[in-house]
Amino acid sequence: MGPTNIALVKLYQADQKLREAQSRLDAVSKNVRIQERKSNELSERLRLGQTTLREQQSQAAQLDLDLKTREVKIERLRTQQTNAKNNREYQAFLVEINTEKLDKGKVEEELLNVMTEVEKLQAETKELSGLLDVEKEKLESMRKEINDRVKQLQAEVNSLRPARDAAAAAVPKAALDAFERLADRFEGEAMSALTKPDRRREEYACNNCNMDLVTDVYNKLHSRDELIFCPSCKCILYIPDDLPIELAVNKVKEKKEPRIKTSNLKAAVNRQTAAEDVVKSITLEEDDDSSGDEQTAG
Ligand SMILES: [Zn+2]
Repeated sequence: MGPTNIALVKLYQADQKLREAQSRLDAVSKNVRIQERKSNELSERLRLGQTTLREQQSQAAQLDLDLKTREVKIERLRTQQTNAKNNREYQAFLVEINTEKLDKGKVEEELLNVMTEVEKLQAETKELSGLLDVEKEKLESMRKEINDRVKQLQAEVNSLRPARDAAAAAVPKAALDAFERLADRFEGEAMSALTKPDRRREEYACNNCNMDLVTDVYNKLHSRDELIFCPSCKCILYIPDDLPIELAVNKVKEKKEPRIKTSNLKAAVNRQTAAEDVVKSITLEEDDDSSGDEQTAG
């Protein structure tokens, strides 16, 4: 392979190692993160409950004040009524007192409702607060438990990062951009090795998606320094160490010839329109997929 592809494979390997370490770290801290979320949600519910409770308490206080003012007013009216100069004045105070009593009754009712709500909220927030204490305690003990392991895994991640950075620095910019884009999109799976499913046949497939690739993909990767993408999964293709040219390319070139003729024959058959030939061609077409398109980019 050319220097760009060699650098890319090195980057891919360093990147994979780093991602594996990162995912080990993520896995260990996953339960802690779940517990953190649980605590935070409870905390938020408690905060909202306490806000509502304070609002209701302040409303209750206001209603209570209103009630006392009305009581004072009624008392004053009663005194005035007692000192009424005549029956007409007495009756007028009576009407006023009764109106005040009626209003006071409404306020009392409202206060009762608010007090009931306050009690309900007090019980709820108390329960939430207890729950939150339990969950927070659990979170703390979980943190302590994984603390050492997290430190160890974090150190591993930190130690792998410089190698990844160095490998990235060795890749030309355009190729690096292509790699990073794919790595972001496919969670690190930016590259895929060529495979040779059948040792006797000079046919290659993409290890990532198993798509059959055109025959000259190996030679292209071997002799040129260009990026070749899998037409199906879009990964950057590379030649793995376990597929050296001795294994990849058949020495006896003649073997290739009859295959080409066979596929020509298949193509001819495919052009037949008789019903039986159509049936035949369908079955033939199924193993004709190896002529899949190939996409290259410099
Ligand atoms: Zn593929």
